[in-house]
Amino acid sequence: MEMDKLVALCKRRGFLFQSSEIYGGLNGFWDYGPLGVELKRNVKEAWWRDMVTGHDDLSVPEGGPSSFEMTGLDCTIIMHPQVWKCSGHYDLFHDFMVDCRESKRRYRFDQIRGRWAEAKGQRIFVTTAVAAAEEQADVERRALKYFNLRSKDADSIHWDGDFRPLPEIDEPSQVLAPDARALDTLTAPREFNLMFKTTVGALGGEEDAAFLRPETAQGIFVNFKNVLDSTRVKIPFGIAQSGKSFRNEITPRNFTFRSREFEQMEIEFFCHPDTSHQWYQYWRDRRLQWYTALGLSDERLQLREHDADELSHYSTGTADIEYAFPFLPTGEFGELEGIAHRGDFDLRSHMEGKLDENTNPLQVALGPDGKPKWRGSGKDLTYFDDEAWEREKSELGFKSFKEYVKQRQSEPQPGAPFQYVPHVIEPSAGADRATLAFLCEAYTEDEVPDEKGKLQTRTVMRFHPRLAPIKCAVFPLVRKDGLPEVARDLYRTLKAQMAVFYDEKGAVGRRYRRQDEIGTPYCLTVDGQTLEDQTVTLRDRDSLEQCRIPLDNCLAELQQRIG
Ligand code: ATP
Repeated sequence: MEMDKLVALCKRRGFLFQSSEIYGGLNGFWDYGPLGVELKRNVKEAWWRDMVTGHDDLSVPEGGPSSFEMTGLDCTIIMHPQVWKCSGHYDLFHDFMVDCRESKRRYRFDQIRGRWAEAKGQRIFVTTAVAAAEEQADVERRALKYFNLRSKDADSIHWDGDFRPLPEIDEPSQVLAPDARALDTLTAPREFNLMFKTTVGALGGEEDAAFLRPETAQGIFVNFKNVLDSTRVKIPFGIAQSGKSFRNEITPRNFTFRSREFEQMEIEFFCHPDTSHQWYQYWRDRRLQWYTALGLSDERLQLREHDADELSHYSTGTADIEYAFPFLPTGEFGELEGIAHRGDFDLRSHMEGKLDENTNPLQVALGPDGKPKWRGSGKDLTYFDDEAWEREKSELGFKSFKEYVKQRQSEPQPGAPFQYVPHVIEPSAGADRATLAFLCEAYTEDEVPDEKGKLQTRTVMRFHPRLAPIKCAVFPLVRKDGLPEVARDLYRTLKAQMAVFYDEKGAVGRRYRRQDEIGTPYCLTVDGQTLEDQTVTLRDRDSLEQCRIPLDNCLAELQQRIG
């Protein structure tokens, strides 16, 4: 599938528009149109229903060690600045960027790639920042220009070695920047924090600085105690949240894949350290299944376990669910969701302060004065398993928990296993990336016969019925003989329960085609026979099969098919 066709369809039929388009757009920001908003809502609602409201708290799920509860939160975008210091985002959430003194453009250091080229006795490293599929053409064009050669002399350039990332090159004076004509125009790489900064209150001093959240997860960690205290959840349990996140990405690209404002769907699953690895595997597998159940094909999906050297120091396992987006070179995949075993890093950071990255993760980082550099909340974010304590205290021979802790004081974790900092498994998904994957997967062109039996190319969005923006279209075959009246009544009955579209204009074949192009899975047509036997034609988008069903059974039939 060519990405250009999908992008054009998204604009033409109202799935996605560039933000502020009439002013020339704003790079990295996208608006969802009338159909796009429904599609994305359906993605988020499917996630919420499958992970939270529809979750069975009582049964042990397949592959999981025990039953568990799921609950939700909706936290603010702007939070106390200390949250980002303790989470590590203030110090560590950055990319390296380089500026070009000649073109005045800015690039992500790790995204510039190039090849060594030699001609006229000079050897230079020609770089590019375009997509992988166009890299070679771009460097060739620019090398010709640099060496002042004509296209027919392309053979006189000797290319040495494959494409390599710029960070591997240590001769900056030989580098031709992606949009420059002279050598050595790039600045040294500089750190660039990805958090958007803003000001809270009218004074606007540095002490009023705040940040737009770069992830939704931290709202869950800082509310951990509130959820424990206000509900009766017991470990293991999960808290889910979906909402906007903001990252000042240096090079937003690939449609909505890398945006500066986007939505996440995150779960923090709190469990006992001893079962955390099992839970990690459970969530990894369950989340992968979620995408396949909603229609992403196995061939385009992969679960990639991170190698040990890719893992954060606190993580004992991280896997990415990746999708072969059509804008990537063949064989490459882009991240849809990351599932990370985060240990007790986050809760402990918010309790105690910023953790020292390189050494003992339980140690609090100290500033030059010997005091903790970032102080945590100081609040007790441990979990006390009162049921287990009540069960076992008499067997252990203790009257109170205090007495038990006192006895074990010399041990590293004196309260364990009854009181501990839970471990966390984090399945962190992007609503926009998932929506984009469903759009890419759905786009299909096939050939269907028209009314005269001639084959016509049809564009069809094969969305899973749960995700389709419009579930059903209702048509009267013709605009007379009382058919519109019956069709309108049917439309109103269905519309009370689901997104339905009514159309009575033009040839019915053309009406079907318009619905195919926006992914409507079912069409119901009221015709002459309806008036005789109270049945209508139900047409299936994918199989093109048509069958007659009773008028008063349409709602139940659709509900059963949509699931
Ligand atoms: P990447 O490596 O692609 O930048 P990440 O590893 O930084 O992603 P996480 O911090 O794990 O991403 O965020 C979780 C999810 O949020 C990602 O899997 C993705 O679906 C989504 N996401 C992250 N950054 C963006 C973005 N700039 N635009 C759209 N979605 C994003």
